[in-house]
Amino acid sequence: SAKAEGRNRYQFYSQDMAERSNQRLHLEQGLRRAIDGGQLTLHFQPQVTLPDRQIVGVEALVRWQHPELGMIPPARFIPIAEESGVIDALGRWVLEHACLEMAGLKDGLGGQLHLAVNVSAREFMRSDFIDALRETLARTGFPAAALELEITESTLQTIDRSLEILGELKKLGIAVSIDDFGTGYSSLSVLRNLPIDRIKIDRSFIHDLQHNPDGAAIVKAMVALAESLRMDIIVEGIETAEQAVILTRMGCAGGQGYLFSRPIPVADLIKLLATPDGDNG
Ligand code: C2E
Ligand code: MG
Ligand code: MG
Ligand code: MG
Repeated sequence: SAKAEGRNRYQFYSQDMAERSNQRLHLEQGLRRAIDGGQLTLHFQPQVTLPDRQIVGVEALVRWQHPELGMIPPARFIPIAEESGVIDALGRWVLEHACLEMAGLKDGLGGQLHLAVNVSAREFMRSDFIDALRETLARTGFPAAALELEITESTLQTIDRSLEILGELKKLGIAVSIDDFGTGYSSLSVLRNLPIDRIKIDRSFIHDLQHNPDGAAIVKAMVALAESLRMDIIVEGIETAEQAVILTRMGCAGGQGYLFSRPIPVADLIKLLATPDGDNG
């Protein structure tokens, strides 16, 4: 009967849910151990100028090599870290190690590169965020002027507090970019009043750029917006030369994506920087 079927389905769902929350708990506990246990690493993805593809910066992206489950993508564990509060320790680990690894490059090939680090809303809003940041920069010797923090539109929802923090960052000489731009719902007037250096156009607008006039129109509008607000622009998720050409024509001066390089360990980054035309082969 429909009723029995409904009950079965309910049982199925609730078992499924229980299993999923078990997995979450398992990952959450594993993540706490991973931070101190050397299971986290960083990859760096080059950010380039368009159309000449000069590497001008890198974005640090965390990786978790789980002892039993193998490589777990950040899309799977960052939300768990955020909800459980583990993100505070994880974020400190990422910032510290990204600065250390890039500070190591500073005097050589990496001298002019900026380093972009993702920061979750919860970290950004912490009362000790700025102090911890200042301390990390001092300890690692990484220059504040070469650091950029990537936040999302949702982080800006608590406007008064974010204005205060953005002001502090500006004083320190740290740049701020809006990640995944276009996927949130920040009003454009809000953007106008915030000291934001750069907008990162989300890759969802890029993947079918050639075949989607609406997507192309939106990208054009975002480029115009950034220009009038005197913000830099970088387009995420560029995978084909054709996309790069279209975006260049639209006036995008910065890009990031598999076309140029995947996120790579620092050793590979050094090799890439040593290659004259930045070709990653
Ligand atoms: P994000 O900050 O928007 O980072 C860009 C993501 O797009 C990365 O995924 C990168 O590998 C991927 N990507 C880059 N180019 C291409 C491309 O051409 N095609 C496609 N399909 N993808 C491309 P990843 O490393 O899996 O990270 C996913 C998200 O996890 C990040 O998105 C960010 O929101 C979060 N995340 C990663 N590391 C950290 C971290 O250290 N702290 C925090 N709070 N979040 C992080
Ligand atoms: Mg990012
Ligand atoms: Mg993004
Ligand atoms: Mg993101």
